[in-house]
Amino acid sequence: IETRAHDAQALWQKDKDHFIHPFTDFSTFHEEGCDLITDSDGIYVQDAKGNRFIDGIAGLWCVNVGHGRREIGEAMADQATRMAYFSTFNNLSNAPAAELSARLAELAPAHLNHVFYSCGGSTANDATIRLVHYYFNRLGKPAKKRIISRNNAYHGTTYLAATLTGIASNNWDFDTLDHLVTHLSEANCYRRPEGMTEADYCDHLVREFEDTVAEIGADNIAAFIAEPIMGAGGVLVAPTDYHKRMQAVCRANDILYIADEVVTGFGRLGHFFASEAVYETQPDIINCAKGLSSGYAPLGATLISDTLYDVLSTPQGPGGVLSTGFTYSGHPVSCAAALKNIEIIEREGICENVREVGPYLEERLASLSHHATVGDVRGSHFMMCLENVADKQTKALFPVEARVGDRVAFEAQQRGLIIRPVGHLNIVSPPLIWTRETVDRVVDILDAALTATT
Ligand code: PLP
Repeated sequence: IETRAHDAQALWQKDKDHFIHPFTDFSTFHEEGCDLITDSDGIYVQDAKGNRFIDGIAGLWCVNVGHGRREIGEAMADQATRMAYFSTFNNLSNAPAAELSARLAELAPAHLNHVFYSCGGSTANDATIRLVHYYFNRLGKPAKKRIISRNNAYHGTTYLAATLTGIASNNWDFDTLDHLVTHLSEANCYRRPEGMTEADYCDHLVREFEDTVAEIGADNIAAFIAEPIMGAGGVLVAPTDYHKRMQAVCRANDILYIADEVVTGFGRLGHFFASEAVYETQPDIINCAKGLSSGYAPLGATLISDTLYDVLSTPQGPGGVLSTGFTYSGHPVSCAAALKNIEIIEREGICENVREVGPYLEERLASLSHHATVGDVRGSHFMMCLENVADKQTKALFPVEARVGDRVAFEAQQRGLIIRPVGHLNIVSPPLIWTRETVDRVVDILDAALTATT
């Protein structure tokens, strides 16, 4: 890694005094402040003190092509100096946004040919729900407003995205727009009811959806939103056929099916999009962000079906326009980063790498199950998670104060690997360029970290 000089202490102090960090635990922040990540290259990041780490979380599930890609930086610099910004409202556009829209239409399932841009995952979800409501209003079905989400889902933190989110602790002491959203149970195979087979569990979850539709009334429900694999909620892989069957309930009831592929998109499960390629679903809308630009620039996108577009693009009448969007919708620099990112994913066979190395990562992480505290190792390809438990038999959790996820992550970081603690979970969601050798090094570090924790 090429390192620049930093006054680590001064930066730390400035940060601690003035930067309100997202998702921060102030019981430790006031004392400890932050770790400043200042440099990066490939699978590595480095902190201000010069400590180097393997990045086990791709920044935050997003740096899919790895760090320090000069050609992405150059594409952004070229665009920024040529034409950094101009409006895309109404009849204005820019070259990277036009190019990227056509590329996304090529990469997405065949019926998704239209793109609405936002600034990230939360704004993509928020904008989507506005568009969905608009769609039904225009069809003369204004009562269709309710969105069905799931407990433990993570869809972001704008007001509406936070309401879609179903992780209870994420909304402690925050307000939500509850009249718009109903949450179903999450699909948690590890913690499914005692004695239920996976197939029975799937029936049970689908029935819950059907019962909810019957209770609320299909005429009042606009859409169902789901991550193909629930990410921040614990990397929960649904039972076989769950997504297909949930989609069938949607189709039978004129409910739109929205796949939130903010994490699963752009290669993490070995394909540009997982919905069709892995789960055999044809969502009406796919949302993406993160891996779309590999985190080199903020960008979100809502991929919209031809059927929806036909309605959204019907003229409103004199003076009326589709009045939604952001100053930065289709930002030229972000779109230039995304185009180069997609080029790299294709040129380097990054989806193929995930399909090849992913099963090896699954297998090697599963070998950590021998630790007394590892209750479950789950996930798929480059989206993995370890669930720590106090008792494997009963699946009882450690008390929250034990901070078990934090402790495992701390021990791993001491040994040169950053993974993400979420409560009692440890998430591994690396850049998609890990090799088998990287996996071996990572598993050795995790093995030692788990031993040191218990
Ligand atoms: N949707 C999913 C599935 C996510 O995992 C995230 C972020 O982790 C979001 C939406 C929100 O994205 P952003 O943080 O870019 O707003």
